[in-house]
Amino acid sequence: MKLAQRVKSIQPSPTLAISAKAKTLKAQGVPVIDLGLGEPDFDTPNPIKEAAIQAIHEGWTKYTPSGGLPELKKTICEKLKNENRVSYEEKEILVSCGAKHSLFNICQALVEGGDEIIIPSPFWVSYVDQVAFHQGVPVVIHTRMEDQFLLQAKELEQHITPKTRALVLNSPSNPTGAAYEQKRLEALAEIVLRHQILVISDEIYEKITYDGFKHVSFSALDPEIKKLTLLVNGVSKSFAMTGWRIGYTAGPVEIIKAMDNIQSQSTSNPTSISQKAAIAALQGSSDAIDQMVAAFDQRRRFGVERLNQIPDVSCFSPPGAFYLFPDLSSYFGRTFKGKKIENSSHLAQFLLEEAQIAVVPGEAFGADRHIRISYATSLENLKEALERMNQALLKLS
Ligand SMILES: *Cc1c(COP(=O)(O)O)cnc(C)c1O
Repeated sequence: MKLAQRVKSIQPSPTLAISAKAKTLKAQGVPVIDLGLGEPDFDTPNPIKEAAIQAIHEGWTKYTPSGGLPELKKTICEKLKNENRVSYEEKEILVSCGAKHSLFNICQALVEGGDEIIIPSPFWVSYVDQVAFHQGVPVVIHTRMEDQFLLQAKELEQHITPKTRALVLNSPSNPTGAAYEQKRLEALAEIVLRHQILVISDEIYEKITYDGFKHVSFSALDPEIKKLTLLVNGVSKSFAMTGWRIGYTAGPVEIIKAMDNIQSQSTSNPTSISQKAAIAALQGSSDAIDQMVAAFDQRRRFGVERLNQIPDVSCFSPPGAFYLFPDLSSYFGRTFKGKKIENSSHLAQFLLEEAQIAVVPGEAFGADRHIRISYATSLENLKEALERMNQALLKLS
């Protein structure tokens, strides 16, 4: 069968693949602990569910405008004004079927043959694949654990060429949990302004931060910066609503309009019922979020400390998201039962077989020295899993 050439430029999401494998093993009775999850382990808060049920009873079961209900756009504008200190009008907002879809629409609207998109690594896998799918060129800049995995302004500038279209910023980050403070953003903004490139700012983890870290939206820095920024956010991570599929983009009218046209010819509107639920989420109290973040924080503290107790493992203490991203490269070159561990995929395979824990190899995020551990699982599971990991690593020689 002849498939379109563009299909060859992408691969299925590796994080979903690991979870699928862990589920298969679990179904066979193997007591696998899944640390591969990319979604909160909490249930969607009840008031949000109630709003959806009410929406069904009230008949919100028809098409809405393709770019989202005016009421939801208005709520998003209020949220951005109150929480992120940046004013948008409704015509500068597009609601899509999850933030991943928002990002895809952005690529559809902006990226074509040879356009360079700068992506700091470790990166969320879909950025690279989405850019490649649209015949763009992902320009990866490696960041270091010593720099808290933050992109340095100087390095950004060195990678800008006449073909550079945009920079992707993800703060707090998946997979590292790194997050940019205002000063850091300002240093990047100065270069962005000077070269007039766009910034795709993925802020999906904005509410999941620790130790008093304050999230700052890139577009809130300055009105000139706002003109160059596509702010991407959604309800999936903050409100434990991954299955509801609501994300949004706030940005320059011209780009938003183009994305809306594309959406109107592809998915049409995001689910009407989910849109009503998202309004309830954005307008509701933050109690459920606060509880979720407190639980994440307890696991984060435990996880960082426990990982750093394992010989030759070093783990950065992340200010955001719900992942740990330890460096395990000291174990490369060691063997178990005659098999040599040479990279993060081998290590993940070894941990799945010998410790029955599922983690995602760092290779998937452009950082092969690391593995990603999600702590979107109970503290009890995390304790057991890291104990097993420690024991398994000791078997390598
Ligand atoms: C989960 C995630 C998204 C996408 O979330 P949606 O469920 O599509 O809204 C986007 N960016 C990052 C970094 C993520 O981890």
